[in-house]
Amino acid sequence: MSFRLKTIIGIAIIEAALLLILVLASLHFLRTSNQEAMTNRVGSTMWTYTTTVKDAVISGDLATLDHFVSDLAAHEDIAYVRIRDAGGRVLSEHGRTNLLAKAFMKDADIIDVEDGVFDAQGEIMEGGIGFGRVEAGFSLDYMEQTIVEARKWFAFIFFIAILLSALFSLALGAYLTKQLSRLRMASSKISKGQFGYQVPVLGSDELAETSQAFNEMSIRLGKLYQEVRERELRTHAILNTAINAIITTDSRGAIQLFNPAAEKIFGYRVEEVTGQNLRVLMPKLFQSESEGYLTDYLISGNSKAISVGQEACGQRKDGTFFPIELAVGKAKLGNDSLFVGVIQDITERKVAEEALVQAKIDAEQSNRLKSEFLSMMSHELRTPLTVILGYLPLLKDEDKLPVPSKIAGIAEDIESSGNHLLTLINDLLDISKIEAGKITLDRQARSTDEVVNSVIATLRPAADKKGLSLEGRADTSLVFADEVRIKQILINLIGNAIKFTDQGSITVTACRKDALVEFSVMDTGHGIPGKDLPSIFEKFSQVDSSSTRRTGGTGLGLAITKLLVELHGGSINVASTPGEGTEFIFTIPNAKDGPHG
Ligand code: ADP
Repeated sequence: MSFRLKTIIGIAIIEAALLLILVLASLHFLRTSNQEAMTNRVGSTMWTYTTTVKDAVISGDLATLDHFVSDLAAHEDIAYVRIRDAGGRVLSEHGRTNLLAKAFMKDADIIDVEDGVFDAQGEIMEGGIGFGRVEAGFSLDYMEQTIVEARKWFAFIFFIAILLSALFSLALGAYLTKQLSRLRMASSKISKGQFGYQVPVLGSDELAETSQAFNEMSIRLGKLYQEVRERELRTHAILNTAINAIITTDSRGAIQLFNPAAEKIFGYRVEEVTGQNLRVLMPKLFQSESEGYLTDYLISGNSKAISVGQEACGQRKDGTFFPIELAVGKAKLGNDSLFVGVIQDITERKVAEEALVQAKIDAEQSNRLKSEFLSMMSHELRTPLTVILGYLPLLKDEDKLPVPSKIAGIAEDIESSGNHLLTLINDLLDISKIEAGKITLDRQARSTDEVVNSVIATLRPAADKKGLSLEGRADTSLVFADEVRIKQILINLIGNAIKFTDQGSITVTACRKDALVEFSVMDTGHGIPGKDLPSIFEKFSQVDSSSTRRTGGTGLGLAITKLLVELHGGSINVASTPGEGTEFIFTIPNAKDGPHG
């Protein structure tokens, strides 16, 4: 119900109540004043009647009495008149027969009247002696009639008054509620977002003051809304452009905010995790005993466990785990607490750290290998030089010159030492040339079996010297290779096989496989421990530097071999069982499939 309608109804009800009181009071006054007037009239009339009929009753003039009574009863207000003598006998009576037929019963007061006729009696007295009495009935019809008429008038006046008051209150209500309606409309506009909306201020009454206050409030609200909006946009911009995941939870760990970076890092969409417990993103954090304090902190707000840049483990939607750095902050929000977690995916950093550690290990390894190499090189260089220089005093002093047969042996020793020095220096030059990209291959189609047989022939004396069988089986395929270099590869591998085999055999095979020719050098020697296999092709790598030194090596042979194989476009692999033997397999492109094939 509108305020205006309430005002109108209120005013009408008050008007009606007041009018009703007025009408009822007026009617009451009218009735009591009529009754009073009637009572007075009855009193005076009865006195007049007793006085008038007294003489006729005393004299016994019944004719006059009857005539007189008849006249009295003819009056419209008089219902009946009866005269009785002192003995109670009726001397005359006139009026309404139904009333005359009833036994006379005097009404003590007009308000006791029930039949509409006021029954009154008056004593006929003379000289203190009673001669009879007058009984009369006074009709109250007229009085009732008057009251009924008055009631009608009052009802009419009441109706008109109510109508008028309704009209007035309508006009007044409309006038009074006009400003209120404007305020209501303005409130509705503000509630729909039209902050700053103004209502016209009319006059200077309380409503005008209210409107003024409303306008000021509306302007302040508009400014506040603008500020809040800008702050919200700023916060959104920060959240949306942040590289790190920003997640907020309530004190029970239920996720409330999940920024785009969090979506990217964890693989969940915001609607998938909103309301879920933080546990889904960091299950390990909530399981680990050692990090239980963080759980306490997140769940119970235990402030001693503030987390700043703590490393933890996150879980993506696909179930994979990844390293994170987590910083947790706490803010009070009314009765609840807001937890803000800033999470950084540190996978790359970890990989870089690990790479750094590995690089350090590699550098140390390479440093160690170089040191070993240098000490071995100096030893290797010194040993043949010592041999050569050791013989020189013998050869320089003519008096001490040995016999010719011994000189030949000395010359052999000097030659062998010189050759060893040359090998070392050649290996070093080779590897530095290949690494510097300065080596060029003279690649041509070569017969595989010719290459294999030629190398076997070269190395057979060394194998024979150790009592080893050296066999070669090659098909008639053609390799597309630099003859010198492919022979160098085979010499390195077969030479190693001879070096590291004490008894048994060395088998060399070569056969075409599609676009490649696959070579294999297999021996029944010491073998290489599994842990050394991955680094066997690295420069200066020697499984056991002391035994290598014994057998004479530089740790560069396999590195050169691998580089040469790869320079040809092939690959090399090794399989070995310590105590049983070793097999090196490498491939070189087939000449028919090569650029000139
Ligand atoms: P080196 O000139 O010292 O032989 P290599 O690079 O040719 O250097 O070989 C590196 C190391 O690999 C050797 O020192 C040796 O320990 C191991 N090795 C190579 N070939 C064999 C093989 N056939 N049997 C056992 N060990 C081998």
